[in-house]
Amino acid sequence: MNRRRQIYEGKAKILYEGPEPGTLIQYFKDDATAFNAQKKGTINGKGVINNRISEFVFTRLSHIGIPTHFIRRLNMREQLVRQVDIIPLEVVVRNVAAGSISKRLGIEEGEPLPHTLLEYYYKDDALGDPLIAEEHIACFGWASNEEMQDMSSMAIRINDFLCGMFAAVGIRLVDFKLEFGRLWDGDYSRVILADEISPDGCRLWDMATGEKLDKDRFRRDLGGEEDAYTEVARRLGVLQDDGPSEVFDLSHHRKLRGKK
Ligand code: 5GP
Repeated sequence: MNRRRQIYEGKAKILYEGPEPGTLIQYFKDDATAFNAQKKGTINGKGVINNRISEFVFTRLSHIGIPTHFIRRLNMREQLVRQVDIIPLEVVVRNVAAGSISKRLGIEEGEPLPHTLLEYYYKDDALGDPLIAEEHIACFGWASNEEMQDMSSMAIRINDFLCGMFAAVGIRLVDFKLEFGRLWDGDYSRVILADEISPDGCRLWDMATGEKLDKDRFRRDLGGEEDAYTEVARRLGVLQDDGPSEVFDLSHHRKLRGKK
């Protein structure tokens, strides 16, 4: 019987009380949502893959000095993390135009941006996570100037590192979303990276074919979500290699949609 106390249930994860004070267990679900939960579904095995990918990415980031909430992976779907107060912001890093920036500003998807863009969204489901300016963050006290400095400099370092990491396995990092939290030590807190980094919150395009390897497959009804997530994990080397695998091919999903 599961006697653990549930602290929070989100769209893709559940947080349980951890075994020691100051720790939580982060459980990865297969549930997928899009458009502020107006679209709901399941991507079979997503939780298992995202747990592995996020473990891999957070571990690599800690090696370059990024402080994170990740402690260790516990099992197929769970990891032990440090308890933080989540800062109510989504920090989005963009290298290439896609998604909401293309829609909002009429920039063609796939257009490389002149330089990396950082955007901030206020985390509030009821409001649909609106895009906000740094002035709003200061005005409403959602983060201090010092915390903004820490988050923006970490976001740029994370982007530089992840662009290289994904490029090495033939994947273009188009954009991604980060969340940060406050880790308290007495009256003082420091900002650390929290949440997850996985194909749920990143746009990842195959460099050779342009094929989408992320949650846009679900959002845009492209099909092949499981294959795409598995392919990202396989390329990063986080899945056991069972010998020669089938050639990665999402063309049958394209054919199903009536495109060549
Ligand atoms: P956009 O603003 O274009 O919809 O999203 C930009 C990037 O941030 C995409 O990689 C997208 O996956 C990620 N992102 C933005 N908001 C969310 C969110 O609420 N949940 C998740 N999982 N990813 C998000």
